[in-house]
Amino acid sequence: MRVHVADHPLIAHKLTYLRDKRTDTPTFRRLTDELVTLLAYEATREVRTTPFEIETPVAPATGIRLASPKPLVVPILRAGLGMLDGMMRMVPTAEVGFLGMIRNEETLEAETYANRLPDDLSGRQCYLLDPMLATGGTLAAAIHFLVDLGADDITAITLLSAPEGIEILKSRVEGIQPPLRLVTGAIDEKLNEKGYIVPGLGDAGDRLYGVV
Ligand code: URA
Repeated sequence: MRVHVADHPLIAHKLTYLRDKRTDTPTFRRLTDELVTLLAYEATREVRTTPFEIETPVAPATGIRLASPKPLVVPILRAGLGMLDGMMRMVPTAEVGFLGMIRNEETLEAETYANRLPDDLSGRQCYLLDPMLATGGTLAAAIHFLVDLGADDITAITLLSAPEGIEILKSRVEGIQPPLRLVTGAIDEKLNEKGYIVPGLGDAGDRLYGVV
């Protein structure tokens, strides 16, 4: 799995306000939206395209458009939903599927509780959205889920990642054939004993949806 940290002053600036506990929910949502737009630019660098002919007012020209089958964007419920609009603004013709994952408190493994995805993902490039890569279990399970359905190229987009989570994710997806990429806004210091990213931004879902 290739890891790309989107090292850009605008991203660092917006992440700073996102982290700040004084940032209210509407601003948190707007910043998330803006950050995803910037991350999507980097994450779609290898999106497949196909050439086609157009005519400008001056001359014929060869352009490109997104190839078929269309890319599939998959927000992981609940917090990944907050990243969907920003992603779709950049790739409006993509298809959207949904995956709900929850941690089983007995096994501590991520389990799927909702799945609205096409049955066959053969030949599809998929973009997984989840704001926080903390322990890595959810993203690892989601990647396996997509690969089992035939996805042949997967990019996960996160706002923040913990170094421990990246290592766990790498180990759990080792040996997977399709190319895997992680594009993240920043790699933070560590995970704390409660599984929160430090310094992080707290609970992304709660902050997106105003849960206090
Ligand atoms: N999920 C969150 O929302 N925040 C964290 O810090 C870790 C996981």
